[in-house]
Amino acid sequence: MDLTMSKTCNCCSSDDQVESPCPVCKKIGREVPKITVESLVNDFIDNGIETFMICMNPDCDVVYYSIDGKNTYIKNLVKVPVWFKDEAEPKYACYCSKVTEKQVIEAVLTKGAKTVKDVNKITGAMKEANCEVKNPLGTCCHQTIQSIIECAKDCE
Ligand SMILES: [Zn+2]
Repeated sequence: MDLTMSKTCNCCSSDDQVESPCPVCKKIGREVPKITVESLVNDFIDNGIETFMICMNPDCDVVYYSIDGKNTYIKNLVKVPVWFKDEAEPKYACYCSKVTEKQVIEAVLTKGAKTVKDVNKITGAMKEANCEVKNPLGTCCHQTIQSIIECAKDCE
């Protein structure tokens, strides 16, 4: 089976990010593709704004906001739990294949997975990469899985 990332996957992509603060907590968010916002929020209102950000602050209820600050989507309006926000349940590591953080940790601790590839093999993560419309960040979960693996090893 081919577990390589599909062409829709844009992890490790450019880092020419727009710096726009969250309208609520004022922390600088991270740019997300508009299609991600459109796909993941209920009642998306398209008022022509093309640039959207995601608030990475775990305490903040805001998930997405438009760069002009007019459109704000809080947690309750997002169709999936956003793993880095407080009280997200379950915490998905890979949204496309619905693999949770817990499953990744288990794969590392009980099944000897050492790399993202191992985890993918054991959990079935990243089988169908459709990150742009499934992952709240609109990027591949590769890096998320990688950091969970590192963290799981530390906790041992
Ligand atoms: Zn915020």
